Amino acid sequence: MTYQNFSLAQLQAIDGAHHLHPFTDHKDLRAAGARMITYAKGPFIYDSEGNEILDGMAGLWCVNIGYGRDELAEAAYAQMKELPYYNSFFRCSTPTPVLLSQKLAEISPPNLNQVFYGSSGSEANDTALRLVRHYWALEGKPQKNRVISRQSAYHGSTIAGTSLGGMNAMHGQLYGAVPNIAHVMMPYAYELQHAGESDHDFGLRAAKAVEDEILRAGADNVAAFIGEPVQGAGGVKIPPASYWPEIQRICRKYDVLLMLDEVITGYGRTGEWFAAQSMGIEPDTMTTAKALTSGYQPLSALFVSDRVASTIVEKGGEFFHGYTYSGHPVACAVALKNLEIIEREGMIERVRDETGPYFAAALKERIAGHDLVGEVRSFGFLGAIEIVKDKATKERFAPAGSAATLVRDHAIANGMMLRATGDTMILSPPLIWTKEIIDMACERIVKALDAAKEDLA
Ligand code: PLP
Repeated sequence: MTYQNFSLAQLQAIDGAHHLHPFTDHKDLRAAGARMITYAKGPFIYDSEGNEILDGMAGLWCVNIGYGRDELAEAAYAQMKELPYYNSFFRCSTPTPVLLSQKLAEISPPNLNQVFYGSSGSEANDTALRLVRHYWALEGKPQKNRVISRQSAYHGSTIAGTSLGGMNAMHGQLYGAVPNIAHVMMPYAYELQHAGESDHDFGLRAAKAVEDEILRAGADNVAAFIGEPVQGAGGVKIPPASYWPEIQRICRKYDVLLMLDEVITGYGRTGEWFAAQSMGIEPDTMTTAKALTSGYQPLSALFVSDRVASTIVEKGGEFFHGYTYSGHPVACAVALKNLEIIEREGMIERVRDETGPYFAAALKERIAGHDLVGEVRSFGFLGAIEIVKDKATKERFAPAGSAATLVRDHAIANGMMLRATGDTMILSPPLIWTKEIIDMACERIVKALDAAKEDLA
C-alpha cells in the first residue's frame, strides 16, 4: 500500500495519532495538520497538493547538491546489494568507510586526518565531548574537563548536544545538564555591538569572554572551547573577521582544545570545503554531518586532529565508545558519490566566486531596504534577515518571534521555504542555486515581507 491511496486529511489524521515530530508543538500541529512534502527535484520541493516551493533551507541545511540525484540512489542500491551492512567494531572494517576516510582527510584542513563516524551531528558532538575529556585524562589531566560554549549555540538535541548548546528553551527542558559546560557571550553584532564600537573591536570583545571564562575557571580545568564558525540555528550569526583568529590565539595560549562544529557549514556552504578553511581556523576536532551525504543518508564524521588522535592511539587502549551504524557502508557510499558530484560540478568554487557574492548583493540590494528589515547578512550560502518594527531603533514586534513567523508563513504561501528563528529569517540554499534562482527567491521574499507588513499595520 502506498501513500497515494490516502487523502491528505487521512495522512494528517494518522500523523496526528501516531507521529511525534521534532521541535513541534503537537497541539498546534494537530490543529493545523502537517504539510505533506511528497516529491522534490533540483531546488524545488512539492507538497501533496501539487504546490511547488523553492527550498531556501536545503532541507535542513543539508541538501547541498539539490534533490533528485539518481547517482546517489544508484550508489546506495549498489552498496545495498553487495553489502548492506557490516560493523567496524572488533577489528573489522568494510571498504567504503575506509575509502571515504581517505577522501575526507584529503579535503579537510591538513592537521585533520582521522574520522569517527556516527549517524547525526548530535552523535558526533557527543563523541567529540567524550573524546576531548578522554584525551586530557590520558594526558594525565583528568580535571581539565570543562568546556566553554556560547549562548544561543546549537550542537544537537541529545543530552550532551543540548548541554553543549546554549539554547535557553532547550536547557529549560534538560532536567540535569552534563556538568562542567559554561556558556559565554556570542559574537552577535546586530544586538550586542556597542554604538561606536568597530567590528574589529567587537570581535575581540566577544573572544575575550572566552578568555575571561578560562581565567575564571583556571586553564588547568578547561578542556576545550566549542563553537560553530557561523552560529546557524541561533540565527546565522556571523562573527567579525577578528573573532576566530583571536579565539585561536586564546586556545593556544592556554592549551585549550578547539572544537569546531561544522555540521551546517561543512561541505561547501561557505565557499570552501569547510569554514575552517574560509576563516583560517585550525581545530582539534571538527564535527560534520548533513551535507556530507546531502541528507540522502544519515551520516556524521567527526574529524580528529593528529595531536588528539595520536594520544588516543598511543596511550588510549580501547576507547569504549561506538555506534552500531558507525561507518555504515550504504551511507558512506552515498557520501563518496555526493563529494564526487560537488567536486565534478565545481559547486564550491561557484559559491565562492559567483553565486555567493551574487546572493550577498541580492540580499543587500533587494531585501535590506524593506521597512520590516533591520539588517541582512550572509556568508557564502548562509543568509539572515532581521525582522524589526523600527529600522532605526531595532525595536522588534511583540510578542517576540511573531513577525518572523508571519513572514515565514507568507513566504511558504508564495512558494518560498525559509525558516524563522526568533525574529530572524534564515536562508541556507542548496549550492546549485543559480543567479536566476536567487532572483526568484528575492522576489518571493519581498512579496512575503509586503504581505506581512500589511498584516502588521
Ligand atoms: N550542530 C549544529 C551546528 C547543527 O546545526 C545541528 C543540527 O542542525 C547539529 C549539530 C545536530 O545535528 P543532528 O540534527 O544531525 O543531530
